[in-house]
Amino acid sequence: NAAQPLLEIKGLHAGYGEIEVLHAIDLQVFEGEFVCIIGANTAGKSTILRAISRLVPRVSGTLRFAGTDLATRAAHEVPTLGIAHVPEGRHVFPDMGVEENLMLGAFTARHAADLPERMERIFELFPRLRERRGQLAGTLSGGEQQMVAVGRALMLQPKLLLLDEPSHGLAPKVVEEMHDAFTKIHRSGTSILLVEQNVGLALDVAARGYVLESGRISLQGSSAELNANPAVRAAYLGI
Ligand code: ATP
Repeated sequence: NAAQPLLEIKGLHAGYGEIEVLHAIDLQVFEGEFVCIIGANTAGKSTILRAISRLVPRVSGTLRFAGTDLATRAAHEVPTLGIAHVPEGRHVFPDMGVEENLMLGAFTARHAADLPERMERIFELFPRLRERRGQLAGTLSGGEQQMVAVGRALMLQPKLLLLDEPSHGLAPKVVEEMHDAFTKIHRSGTSILLVEQNVGLALDVAARGYVLESGRISLQGSSAELNANPAVRAAYLGI
């Protein structure tokens, strides 16, 4: 593929204070791709997403998005470049309604004329949110709050959606709904980088993946290749 990747990470070392968490990470997401990062707890998966969003100090390496050097940008500029990040643990504003939460997602596009249409598309994706549009987000179920968190990110109409453990702690049926939504979001043209501890699910929805072990990429390949890989099966799929 001669095309430039949408997201290009090369030789990234990053961490917190003195502690380096990521060691020489190389990772790419091409336009229109659905890519996952899998791996055990504390492998550093969330740290990769936070590094992209400029929420951890980059120690060294290359972080480029759509031709922009992310290292020169502050965290608050990242959404304006077309990257939306749904962090782990669904951070909704509990005392605000569903619609208000969604509108907050459009903060960099406050004056866009098509905000009602954007919201309408989110309600098509998550019909349960339409029924509950006036309800305080803090009173929603965990799954519904996660829908709000994802919907809020989509209000930006991002080029790249970063999803951190979106199915964590949700009932299997809700996880399925969520993953159906991701497939639809991807089909509508949004590139996705998904972090998941549920490896089976991740490889089901994403086309390609990276395995992260103790801050290093140990394996990468198509989801079919990773699914068939004996090491992946033994370590993550319990087979
Ligand atoms: P999890 O699913 O548990 O979040 P993960 O693979 O996403 O796992 P990270 O959250 O990226 O892992 O954490 C990687 C390492 O970085 C861990 O050892 C963690 O303790 C450390 N770490 C994460 N955030 C901070 C922080 N703000 N300050 C110091 N260390 C941190």
